[in-house]
Amino acid sequence: MPELPEVEVTRRCMTAMLQGRAVRALRVYEPRLRWPVPRTLGATLAGRSLQRIDRRGKYLLWRFEHGVLISHLGMTGSWRVYRDGQAPERGPHDHVDISFDAALARLTDPRRFGALLWHAAAKGGVEGHPLLASLGVEPLDPGFDGMQLYLATRRRSASIKQVLLSGDAVVGVGNIYASESLFDAGIDPRLPARRLGPIRCARLAAAIRRVLGEAIDAGGSTLRDYASADGAEGQYALQARVYGRDGSDCPVCGRPIRRIVQGQRATYWCARCQRR
Ligand SMILES: [Zn+2]
Repeated sequence: MPELPEVEVTRRCMTAMLQGRAVRALRVYEPRLRWPVPRTLGATLAGRSLQRIDRRGKYLLWRFEHGVLISHLGMTGSWRVYRDGQAPERGPHDHVDISFDAALARLTDPRRFGALLWHAAAKGGVEGHPLLASLGVEPLDPGFDGMQLYLATRRRSASIKQVLLSGDAVVGVGNIYASESLFDAGIDPRLPARRLGPIRCARLAAAIRRVLGEAIDAGGSTLRDYASADGAEGQYALQARVYGRDGSDCPVCGRPIRRIVQGQRATYWCARCQRR
């Protein structure tokens, strides 16, 4: 599943290749994504210039003067951008092509849990869209710090790992990054979130920013095949220290990394380095 770093890398690649370009045409080969692609989307976008691409959580927000194209990659989606004439023949899972002046953006999504929706400027700011309105704070924004995390977890008796995954205290910290951040901060993933004090919240917030930042710098790592938006095949570039490494030696203390299941998701951690 594409995680926040992959979406951010996609955003950066697409921005570099598409910002300021006008849409020539939209071709929808399969409108049945998580929600139907609007029938009028082609007419809405034709001739309009893409001003900027922002990200909110794992949503990409393609900003045009008259509204915002909201896209989500779901479980298996990816965007690739090709220069004119370089796109390969369309495959069975390529559902949407947006052709711009001198470039083509193609949405591929085998399982079709992704989304492509339009939010007209006349309806107000896109932040108020039902899909975006309740998202937690962005982990890479200056507003996210230990105090914010401390205040957001005071009433949460669930484990800190599960609270991170729930996305309401902070958005976009997926399963890999939750394990890695908790290891980095030296916090037992089973600890009830409300028992974290301000100092450990500060350490965890810093760890989340560091781990996500490293993954973005590494080109949006993931444990499965991933293709970045410019068409280059991605690599598993993040050096995971605990995730997927049960039985291996902890890189800090040398004891075996453990695997447990929390809320049906695997957690990897070191029982010596991570404390309650
Ligand atoms: Zn250890």
